[in-house]
Amino acid sequence: MRPFEPLRPGHVGVYVCGPTVQSPPHVGHLRTALPFDLLRRWLVQSGHEVTLVQNVTDIDDKIITNADRDGTSVWELATRQTRAFDDAYRTIGILPPTIQPRATGHIPEMIALISALIDGGHAYAGGGSVWFRVGSFAGYGALSHQRPDAMLPSAESESGKSDPRDFALWKAARPGEPFWSSPWGEGRPGWHLECSAMAGKYLGPAFDIHGGGLDLVFPHHENERAQTVCAADGATGGDTGEMARYWMHVGLLTTGGTKMSKSLGNSVLVADALGAVRPQVLRYHLLSAHYRSTLEYTPEALDESAAAHDRVETFVRNALDILGGPGEAAALAADDGPSLPGAAVRGRAARGGPGSEAVGGTAGDAVTGLTPQRAWADFEAAMDDDLAVGRALAAIFGAVGQGNQVLSKAHSRQLAGWVNVTRRMLGVLGLDPHEQWPSAGAELRPALDGVMQIALDLRSAARARRDYAEADSIRSRLAAVGLIVEDTPEGQRWHLA
Ligand SMILES: [Zn+2]
Repeated sequence: MRPFEPLRPGHVGVYVCGPTVQSPPHVGHLRTALPFDLLRRWLVQSGHEVTLVQNVTDIDDKIITNADRDGTSVWELATRQTRAFDDAYRTIGILPPTIQPRATGHIPEMIALISALIDGGHAYAGGGSVWFRVGSFAGYGALSHQRPDAMLPSAESESGKSDPRDFALWKAARPGEPFWSSPWGEGRPGWHLECSAMAGKYLGPAFDIHGGGLDLVFPHHENERAQTVCAADGATGGDTGEMARYWMHVGLLTTGGTKMSKSLGNSVLVADALGAVRPQVLRYHLLSAHYRSTLEYTPEALDESAAAHDRVETFVRNALDILGGPGEAAALAADDGPSLPGAAVRGRAARGGPGSEAVGGTAGDAVTGLTPQRAWADFEAAMDDDLAVGRALAAIFGAVGQGNQVLSKAHSRQLAGWVNVTRRMLGVLGLDPHEQWPSAGAELRPALDGVMQIALDLRSAARARRDYAEADSIRSRLAAVGLIVEDTPEGQRWHLA
């Protein structure tokens, strides 16, 4: 653990290895992408400008194989699946990358990079391909903590290598496959090379944070690092530079303890997952474990997340209903002492979302001494601590618990303080029920409100004449269609299940 210090104060460059667009996205892909969305939101909240580059690998053995199988072209398959990934990311609230480069759009950059590596003695042509000379880089293996002399041969078995550990920078064209011209003959880029070329083009040879799934540490990231560092060092071959100052690797998503993977046949497609849970619940579940941890994806685990998410969402909705809306809540909290320290204090620019509103709230619980300010400070400390999301969620649930205690009392200022700080914390996690996940069918809401008022009036009338069976029947029939009625000291309240 080291303090985070960007190369350029106030700016953070992040490169995330994006998907190989060979087939529809599964939930594991979302789990890998989500921590970088969280990181980005937190860095922005903390006053940084973030450039997030996430590539698309749109040429690859598996894309070629799948396109052949489906009787389509690699271009069509890659385009369709790129769109499916974009849709899946957007559906669970992952902000689009600042730059989304495609591998096939960067062949000239890759050829230039290979040329530099050959000139520096780090690569050689052989058998129509070009190979990276692993033995030329003293620092090889440092990222994955391996000794080069103990390594197994690289996966590529093509002829032309002078050392079995060497890996392909450029692959000789095979009959019937897409190819590009190069000084070494017709072929296509190696996977590792793509990321070095694209990261270098948009972030430079050294940048702040490089991320991806834990399964990319070796060989992918080790090889990216070797290529980038050696190309920048030229002929010296020393371990003098670093591609990224910080590497972030996301733990696996498992089902029943086994890694979720297409090749193992246990993957859950995003489309299927979203048939079972709402997107915000899926987002909540996938970010609820620390990014370095393994996360289980089972119906039971999802149910727990759904219940936890519902508790938070219900509080925000009920509180905003009582207070008359988010604007009223902000105005009330502004009356209540100084607002929370925010982005303006921590960094340069405060940006949109509930973070820029008055969050307010020195008024807290007289017994525990908890205040909205304290909740925010706990949340902030947790997020600063390598995105300790478990503690961040604990701060949210603490605020929700305090807020629920004053929900049905006439302490609207306190309630405003709690709901504002809750929304601000949720906003950082991309989970604010009001701002980020407005309910669908908003145009129907006035009509639904009117119909529900009629139903609730009928239920009140039934109870007034002591016909409790009828009152219960109305309530259970509404519940059966997803309309939940709660009896509170202020009367009946309803919400969508
Ligand atoms: Zn990569």
